[in-house]
Amino acid sequence: MELQSEIKSLKGIGPKKYAALQKLNVHYVEDLLLFYPRDYEDRRNIKSINTLQEGENAVIRGKIQLIIKGRRTYGKKQTLRVLVEDASGTIEIVFFQMIYLEKTLLRNQEYIFFGKVTVQNGRLQMIQPDFHIFEGKAENQILPIYPLTLGLTQKELRKWQMIIKPLISKLEDPFSEDILNRNRLCSLTYAITNIHFPQTPQKLKEAKFRLVFEELLLLQTGLMLTKNRLTKLQDGISFSKEVNIADFTKSFPYSLTKAQMRVISEINDDMESQKVMNRLVQGDVGSGKTAVAAAAIFKAVKSGFQAAMMAPTELLAKQHYESLKEQFEPFDIKVGFLSGSLTTKQKKQVLLDLENGMIHLLVGTHALIQKKVNFYNLGLVVTDEQHRFGVNQRTLLTEKGLHPDVLVMTATPIPRTLAIILYGDLDCSVIDEMPPGRKPIVTKALSLSQRDQAYAFLISEIKKGRQAYVVAPLIEESESLECRSAVYAFEEFQKNYPQFRVGLIHGEMKQAEKDEVMQYFYENKIDVLFATVVIEVGINVPNATVMLIENAERFGLAQLHQLRGRVGRGGEQSFCLLISDQKSLLAKERAKIMAHSNDGFYIAEEDLKLRGPGEFFGMRQHGIPELKLADLGKHIKILKEVKKESMLILEEDPFLRNSENKILRNKIEKMFENVEKISI
Ligand code: ADP
Ligand code: MG
Repeated sequence: MELQSEIKSLKGIGPKKYAALQKLNVHYVEDLLLFYPRDYEDRRNIKSINTLQEGENAVIRGKIQLIIKGRRTYGKKQTLRVLVEDASGTIEIVFFQMIYLEKTLLRNQEYIFFGKVTVQNGRLQMIQPDFHIFEGKAENQILPIYPLTLGLTQKELRKWQMIIKPLISKLEDPFSEDILNRNRLCSLTYAITNIHFPQTPQKLKEAKFRLVFEELLLLQTGLMLTKNRLTKLQDGISFSKEVNIADFTKSFPYSLTKAQMRVISEINDDMESQKVMNRLVQGDVGSGKTAVAAAAIFKAVKSGFQAAMMAPTELLAKQHYESLKEQFEPFDIKVGFLSGSLTTKQKKQVLLDLENGMIHLLVGTHALIQKKVNFYNLGLVVTDEQHRFGVNQRTLLTEKGLHPDVLVMTATPIPRTLAIILYGDLDCSVIDEMPPGRKPIVTKALSLSQRDQAYAFLISEIKKGRQAYVVAPLIEESESLECRSAVYAFEEFQKNYPQFRVGLIHGEMKQAEKDEVMQYFYENKIDVLFATVVIEVGINVPNATVMLIENAERFGLAQLHQLRGRVGRGGEQSFCLLISDQKSLLAKERAKIMAHSNDGFYIAEEDLKLRGPGEFFGMRQHGIPELKLADLGKHIKILKEVKKESMLILEEDPFLRNSENKILRNKIEKMFENVEKISI
């Protein structure tokens, strides 16, 4: 057997097991060696039941006293409760939808259970633990627990790992002795041996550290490699040094903030240089990103090139179009608009003018990436609110020019620490300052019982002539989820307060209907707008001062912050009222963070900490592959070390072409093979 042998050549792996393993992405023997446990069962440390603490992962050994089958109620999971006793006390073990266990579990038999300890109504519980019969012999090992899929058992995986263990020494280490010594890492053989069969917790720790380091190094080096390729091999446009952006920005009715000026000058330098600009501009909602984008567009157009600006919704695109058209009018810059809503005749004209170079800036929606859209000489691409666009969509747009510069604006920041490490300071600009005179939004976290107060407050604001948003997580009532819907809230409000003008907007409406409602709200023909998250992006209605969010616990923090950013856009004091079911600790914690801070970056960091990077949106869109062991929220410190090492490696060998880096290169390619093409 070799590392490259197919996994089905292993004894005991028939077609069914093989299919299950493929689901876990294990095809070859090597894949199985690199398939890491998700946890460990430390049998050297069996706990007495009476010493268990809530929240800990523990191994217990006890006899089954009772097995109780729960009632079968429609729509609910049928439960099996098992009472387990050791010399010190009892604990209840709960299994959901595993009624078949009733037949296999044996009363008075001693079992080992491994799982998280919880407390329910004052009683100790373990929900869905791993378990097996206590075999009586010396069980003083740390056993791996693998992530499973249907049709596989822990026992089988442990057995197979044992069989292929001798091949571990054949794995090639991507790290040289130098790298290992410099970073105090153990060898790959040692790490893989101990990740599957740790002899002590210390050895496991060393193994994990080494593998996390390696994973992050592959990630970091892979990202840098792409960037090297982009910046060193592609010649871009050098926009004219004669064009002075200040000639344009001094026409603004306000003066730029220091942060806006800094970012504009970073962009200006990029644009004048020969290399292709790939710059991410992160700025909180309301920080004035449009002005920065406009400055870049001015530079491009006055240097003789066309520019394109793409926004994720019709309304947002239109708002940009209107404000940019007005701003650019005095400078003889012609702005065009393209979206699905134009008539065929209008479209034709726009496309023609674009191809002839009569239109200098084209603003629009996804319609911009259609095949028939041809530019005369596209030099700059701006996308707004980028998390709505896949990387591929952006690439389609850039391919309409010859290596145009790219500016990506986002209000949903990835945490700063992460961004700087991953992209380097160079290609990421941050507008970390708000225009002066903004009043911070007052945020209140309220419980369900305070809902009436929240609406009373909303009404008092409407009576002052202001407008309000009410956002709910669902469109319509659902049987399984206990939360408000936009339709319900809308109808209830209409019934209780017929004197106010209300509107409703959600994702299942036609684009034209949505636009109409938004337009009414914009023109102050609607007092209260009931909505789902469709209003999340970029809408600017300065007279709206209240954002009331129902079932706030159902939204992500970054999303809540985005929603809150819809208010506080005018001179009046604005308010954000978060009504949530605060039963869970997490919900409370989140409400606290929102009430505590108006800073999107801080919130993004907290979001990452609370939810973990797996769920943190947009990672894949940022070109970051899935990680097995490393955690970008937790391992920032290691990432810093990794960054240094990665730079050392790439300084000597910028494209990893040297033979001593071959293994490293192969591993990087493998890691990135399923990730979209990276363009930032
Ligand atoms: P966002 O970053 O959310 O896209 P916008 O570009 O829409 O923010 O700007 C929000 C509002 O702030 C706009 O009305 C804009 O005219 C205004 N604005 C932008 N920069 C400044 C500034 N330096 N001083 C005052 N107002 C500004
Ligand atoms: Mg914006």
